[in-house]
Amino acid sequence: MKRFIFLGAPGTGKGTQASVLALKYDLPQISTGDILRKAVAEGTDLGKKAKQIMDSGGLVSDDIILGLIEKRLQEPDAQKGFIFDGFPRTIKQAQDLDALLSGADGISGVVYFQVDEEEIVQRLTSRRTCGQCGLNYNTITDPPPADFKCRVCGGAVIQRDDDKESTVRNRMVVYNEKTAPLVKYYQDHDKLYAVDGSQPVEIVRQQIIDYMNRF
Ligand code: AMP
Repeated sequence: MKRFIFLGAPGTGKGTQASVLALKYDLPQISTGDILRKAVAEGTDLGKKAKQIMDSGGLVSDDIILGLIEKRLQEPDAQKGFIFDGFPRTIKQAQDLDALLSGADGISGVVYFQVDEEEIVQRLTSRRTCGQCGLNYNTITDPPPADFKCRVCGGAVIQRDDDKESTVRNRMVVYNEKTAPLVKYYQDHDKLYAVDGSQPVEIVRQQIIDYMNRF
């Protein structure tokens, strides 16, 4: 069974790779960020609680996240495996996930996207996103159409609140403090596969495919 975690700071390309590889391997891409954004858009209780934290670049509580994941893993499509994108983000989440999957052996592997911090900040602040279908654009490398209507679905292309520079800097601080320790955690469990995420997208993708095919 293919059960993968894509680990890395925001803006390292893990979401982009996860969406393509999820299709290739017919696995669900499970992004806690997407689940939370949907809750915010729908105005649910969870969404109301999460919005402020997300806008400031902080982390939603481990208990809330674990509840979401537990529920998501019960869905039929997750029985054949998954790609986690943006989860786990703390050691506690990783430990809880291990318990949920009965031990760290429950995970096939962790792809770690390595990108230099200044490059990340530049990538994130130039990112634009379709508010409707979630497609990402980049003002430098892949600009949205002049009328800011998504080329796929026609939705409005916007800058995510948490992609503004001050929030991005805070997200990096939070990443370094809370999430970066997971690199050692999975290394110690012999699960870590590092890729240089600053290479062209297709090269990064091929390296991940070669790795995922081992399982
Ligand atoms: P992302 O799209 O993965 O960058 O997530 C956007 C925001 O959602 C993050 O900045 C956090 O506030 C929140 N979030 C997403 N996933 C998690 C998680 N696993 N643990 C805590 N907060 C999360």
